[in-house]
Formats: sequence, structure tokens, C-alpha cells
Amino acid sequence: MSDVRNVIIIGSGPAGYTSALYTARASLNPLVFEGAVTAGGALMNTTEVENFPGFKEGIMGPDLMDNMRAQAERFGAELVADDIVSVDLSGEIKTVTDTAGVVHQAKAVIVATGSQHRRLGLPQEDELSGRGVSYCATCDGFFFREQDIAVIGGGDTAMEEATFLSRFAKTVTIVHRRDALRASKAMQERAFADPKIRFVWDSEVAEIHGTDGKLSGLTLSNRKTGETSALPVTGLFVAIGHDPRVELFKGQLDLDDEGYLQVASPTTRTNVPGVFAAGDVVDHTYRQAITAAGTGCAAALDAERYLAALS
Ligand code: FAD
Repeated sequence: MSDVRNVIIIGSGPAGYTSALYTARASLNPLVFEGAVTAGGALMNTTEVENFPGFKEGIMGPDLMDNMRAQAERFGAELVADDIVSVDLSGEIKTVTDTAGVVHQAKAVIVATGSQHRRLGLPQEDELSGRGVSYCATCDGFFFREQDIAVIGGGDTAMEEATFLSRFAKTVTIVHRRDALRASKAMQERAFADPKIRFVWDSEVAEIHGTDGKLSGLTLSNRKTGETSALPVTGLFVAIGHDPRVELFKGQLDLDDEGYLQVASPTTRTNVPGVFAAGDVVDHTYRQAITAAGTGCAAALDAERYLAALS
């Protein structure tokens, strides 16, 4: 069993590293578990990030995360590239256990484990991610000006992404597995009224095709008739949902109706005193690097105040 730390941070995306920076600068000597294979978070898997303020020419995702990491380390954050596999958050002293079975103790815990976008699970999907295949219209829409784009999904996110993309795109084709949308009425009407958007019903993506390392088209399959058709597109936005990484916390922290960690907004306090949550594990609305960094900062300040009140 280790000594009792002030604060342990689980997660290493923009939320985790920003919490680390702030708590380190507040002399709280944070211990950060970054994850074993995914240290740095979601932006490690992308290319250009053009919407994180402060980088007027844009910055590559992995470079941005390396900078955040180094900045937190510069002020004394202790970073460990390992996963936390279990937690006990109930007492005044919280414990988290790493993959070697070592138990670490802290008075406060910040959860910043992010969320995982759902993939189609098709060959070429990963290879072409960032090369035509995307999971975030706000992040990447701008790269697809005057192009033909497909959006996969039938919920609010898919409609929102499609209507957002139609501002840039030549055409947007929404491909949906059923013959009716799950999206709210208002979102549906906006999509139906958009002259650039068309729908392909009862269909799913059977194949993703690339030419010279870039997306060049899809093969669609009609689930009712079994017929296949070609859809030549240079953009594919997969909008079939996200899974927040909450497994470790089930039964200990309250979740909201959509399965994300619940906090007492606008604070980052969870239902357990001394446990704070930030970033995409909480947020199913904005899901941006800057909002994750913002709530990471808030979690650090909330933890700092909690610890000050203990002493
Ligand atoms: P994440 O970045 O998801 O980081 C969480 C990390 O915590 C995990 O990766 C892992 O390392 C760690 N972790 C998880 N569980 C554990 C555990 N049990 N133990 C230890 N560590 C753990 N946003 C923008 O603003 N602009 C963009 O251009 C942009 N492009 C994107 C491109 C892609 C391909 C993707 C997938 C997302 C993009 N986003 C973009 C969204 C942005 O990446 C996320 O909103 C942001 O990374 C969320 O930050 P986070 O800190 O909450 O979580």
C-alpha cells in the first residue's frame, strides 16, 4: 500500500492532463494514471487539430497531447503509463489499484477516462480514419468543403452532424439501418428540409473503399432486399454513438440516463465526496478537446477546494 496522496487522476486526455497541470501548480503532487496503451487519449489517433485555441496554424493531435503532458510534468505531476483496474471510492481515503495489483491511496480522485466512439467494425475503417473516415463533424467538417459525404446513423447526433456538414459539403447522404429515424422531431424536420441532404433507408455500410490511402466510396447493403449499391463519397461520418468509460465506477458513482458519470453541474462533483469527474466521460453534448480541458481545470479547482476544507 502506498502513502496517501492528495489527488489521483485517472485518465490522460485533455481533461486528465489539464487537471494534472492545475493540481501540480497548486502543489498537490498529483499522481496520474495515463492508461497502458492509450496514454494521451483520443487525440493521439488523429492528425490535424485546427480548433484548439492558441495554435493558429493548427497542431497535430499527438503533438498537442505531448505538449500537455510535458507541461503537467514540468510542474511536478507524476505520470504513470498504466491502467487502473479497480477502485474503492467509498471512504475518506480512496483507493485505486493498478495492473500489477499495487493499491494507491488518495484523499481525492479525479476521473477523466473519456469515451469511446462506436466503430462500424469494418476492414479499412481504422486505416482510413483521419483520411476520409471521421467520428466528429465539429472537428473535421471543415476539411470536407464541396465534397460528397455520407453520415451513418439515425439519432440526434447523426442529424446534427448531417445538418452541420451540409454547410460545407456538396451533398450529404444519411444512411440508416431502419426506415424511420430515432432523432427528435425537430432534428428530423431540419434534416428533411435541407436540400443538400438525402436519405438511404434500411441500409448499412457493407464495405469501405480507399484509393491512394484516402476514402473513395462505400458499398451499401439493403437489409430488406439484400441488394448492394455503390456510394461514391470522400467523407464518411460515423454517428452511431459513444460509450463513456464508466465500467470501473458502476455501483459507486451515479450515472445519468445516457450512462455518463453524473456531476452536480456546473461543478465537477460526483455523488461521492472527494471524487470529481471531467471531460467526455461526463459530457455527451460537446465532446471537444477544449471543453474536456475546461472541465479538467474545473475538477482540479474543485478538488483543491475540497482538500483545503479537509485540513
Ligand atoms: P480522452 O481524450 O478520451 O482520454 C481519456 C484517456 O484516459 C484514455 O484514452 C486513456 O488513456 C485513459 N484511461 C481510460 N480509462 C483508464 C483507466 N482505467 N486507467 C488509466 N487510464 C485510463 N476534439 C477537438 O476539439 N478537435 C478535434 O479536432 C478533434 N478531433 C478528434 C478526432 C478523433 C479521431 C477523435 C476520436 C476525437 C476528436 N476530438 C476532437 C474529440 C476529443 O478528442 C475529445 O473530446 C477529447 O479527447 C476528450 O478528452 P478526455 O480527456 O475527456 O478523454
